[in-house]
Amino acid sequence: MLNRQGRPTAPGAGAANGHATFTGNRALQQEEALIFEFGRTDVTGVDLDEPAPVADRLGGLGRKEPIGLPGLSEPEAMRHYVRLSQKNYGIDTGLFPLGSCTMKHNPRLNEKMARLPGFADVHPLQPVSTVQGALALMDELAHWLKELTGMPAVTLSPKAGAHGELAGMAAIKAAIAARGEADTRKVVLVPDSAHGTNPATAALIGFTVKPVPAREDGTVDPAEVAKRAGPDTAAIMLTNPNTCGLFERDVVEIARVIHDAGGYFYCDGANFNAIVGKARPGDLGVDAMHINLHKTFSTPHGGGGPGAGPVVLSQRLAAFAPLPHVRLDEGRFSLVEHPSASDQSPLGRLTAFHGQMGMFVRALAFMLSHGAEGLKQASEDAVLNANYVRASLADVMSLPFGNRPCMHEVLFDDTWLKGTGVTTLDFAKALIDEGYHPMTVYFPLVVHGAMLIEPTESESKASLDLFIATLRDLAFAVRDGDTARFTGAPYHAPRRRLDETRAARQPVLRWTPPAPVPEAAE
Ligand SMILES: *Cc1c(COP(=O)(O)O)cnc(C)c1O
Repeated sequence: MLNRQGRPTAPGAGAANGHATFTGNRALQQEEALIFEFGRTDVTGVDLDEPAPVADRLGGLGRKEPIGLPGLSEPEAMRHYVRLSQKNYGIDTGLFPLGSCTMKHNPRLNEKMARLPGFADVHPLQPVSTVQGALALMDELAHWLKELTGMPAVTLSPKAGAHGELAGMAAIKAAIAARGEADTRKVVLVPDSAHGTNPATAALIGFTVKPVPAREDGTVDPAEVAKRAGPDTAAIMLTNPNTCGLFERDVVEIARVIHDAGGYFYCDGANFNAIVGKARPGDLGVDAMHINLHKTFSTPHGGGGPGAGPVVLSQRLAAFAPLPHVRLDEGRFSLVEHPSASDQSPLGRLTAFHGQMGMFVRALAFMLSHGAEGLKQASEDAVLNANYVRASLADVMSLPFGNRPCMHEVLFDDTWLKGTGVTTLDFAKALIDEGYHPMTVYFPLVVHGAMLIEPTESESKASLDLFIATLRDLAFAVRDGDTARFTGAPYHAPRRRLDETRAARQPVLRWTPPAPVPEAAE
């Protein structure tokens, strides 16, 4: 079948509940072709006369033929992009329970502050005398981050959590080299429950990764760390609260074991949103920790960016922070951008310029509008909401570590699905039909068929109640043997089951025009 744009309708598109549509559209959800598929090179949104010929000064380097950019009229262009925007599910559309990602509301006040011309329009190459306000903001954000974590130093420039890991682990590597132990301390201990970025960062930087198994209750046993720690240990990378949504209650002991072995304690602080105002990583023996401003302090995640992943550092590592940093001398702010002769930092820069200014503004706006008490309450509410979800579903879904309190996210496994013909993936896909972005699935790897739900503090009780009622309805449908509702899901989405593995491994990022259909020979 050909759709409105004269191309074959995608298989399954528009065929919900057996009702295929001529256009491929589903009610008010419109099929959307690539701009290259329906744009024509002979059309533009503007109607200009052919320019008069000019003398060619390019010496034969000028373009010989058109490069085939698609042209659209203004209404066509408008509709194309508005339709695309409607295909995106975001936190502004509905609850987004994606565990470990902390999809909380981004307050509009933060957006308003970030758009103030004094912040939005500054150029990174402006003379520092003209950007004193922006530098003051960076300095104040750094102050808050140090206060909240109880750490003496922070570097603001990393642009994501994983980038922060790179900064922190590079600082650890530099500190080890400065001690003259670069050739002997090469092992980084990483618990099995770690986010994939942890072992990836350690390996990328040239360390050898040694896994530490989780114990029965989902936390790390200091005795298992002690067994593996020794003169070859560079660091441990521990997430706290961990990816099972549990607080590592032996964290102080783990820090002691690592320090006694001469190593550093890197904490993955992506889940800091659960403990802000309640516990300070500096008091737990942490040497380096990244903080995802786009999680804890509600700046937008974007599609892989723009985030910000500042790293707080202990006194032992402060000298190894990457450049640049803000300095205050006699009431004037300046940026330290070049290592001085006495500076130990061999890292130099991690990014062009100074980091994600817009995210700094949003995060500080979040901090100032909440205040110390408000930030503490946000952590408490995030934990309360996750526990409300846990307690409301514990009788129909299964909890891998027993029905005991969790932190900011609750982890279910697939024991309750055994023998039903429905998998974790099927269950998640059925949530799409109900209008929810699915929870995180099959992560952390230490739990079979994991479903990790993080409601965040920004959901109301009414919103949580509807979400819980939806999950309960789905759980009862599983019990009643209505497997078709799951194995074929999603039924109502513009696309059904995609080959996600292939899409990730062999992404098609380039459109190539279809080969012309040869004229039939008569
Ligand atoms: C989100 C997350 C990261 C990575 O952060 P990005 O900003 O996505 O690079 C690392 N560890 C944990 C536990 C996370 O949740």
